Amino acid sequence: MKNIDLNKLEKAIRDVPDFPKPGILFKDITPVLADAELFQMSIQAMASATNGARIDKIVGIDARGFIFGAAIANLLGVGFVPVRKAGKLPWITESESYSLEYGKSVIEIHKDAISPSETVIIVDDLLATGGTAEATLKLVEKLGANIHSACFFIELSFLNGKEKLGHTKVESLLVY
Ligand code: AMP
Repeated sequence: MKNIDLNKLEKAIRDVPDFPKPGILFKDITPVLADAELFQMSIQAMASATNGARIDKIVGIDARGFIFGAAIANLLGVGFVPVRKAGKLPWITESESYSLEYGKSVIEIHKDAISPSETVIIVDDLLATGGTAEATLKLVEKLGANIHSACFFIELSFLNGKEKLGHTKVESLLVY
């Protein structure tokens, strides 16, 4: 990934203890989004994860993955595909359930959103335990498409989320 001033970025991320529940240190990225320069350099750096490869679409994960994913897609001049929480997409979907800390969740993708000949990058704001990204990977695989890599603004490496993503290349701008 392109070299940028990571110190400046790190300083802008707000750590919020015990949100949304006790024991979670929430990485609030909204100050980065609100800063034109930081947001732009983050998108440019994440978009460089293509490494010159031909990419057809960016797959963004509900909800903060939409913010980064759509901006990256726009910069690369490629399409954007949303992966949404169950019940939000209006057309025919593939779905995948995955485990959360408490209970289960289901995410969906439109069946006709990506064709088997296409190559995508999966984008989210943060890789924690990897459950959400793994489920997204499975959705894209169900559509038969190729996955170039999974790209995150932040990776919490101590939670070993990468292990759930198998051989998929993982690119993260900030690693904690
Ligand atoms: P996981 O499935 O455990 O990798 O969780 C990833 C998803 O949960 C991402 O979509 C994140 O937006 C959100 N998430 C998990 N942990 C955090 C955290 N500490 N701070 C901010 N967002 C988080």
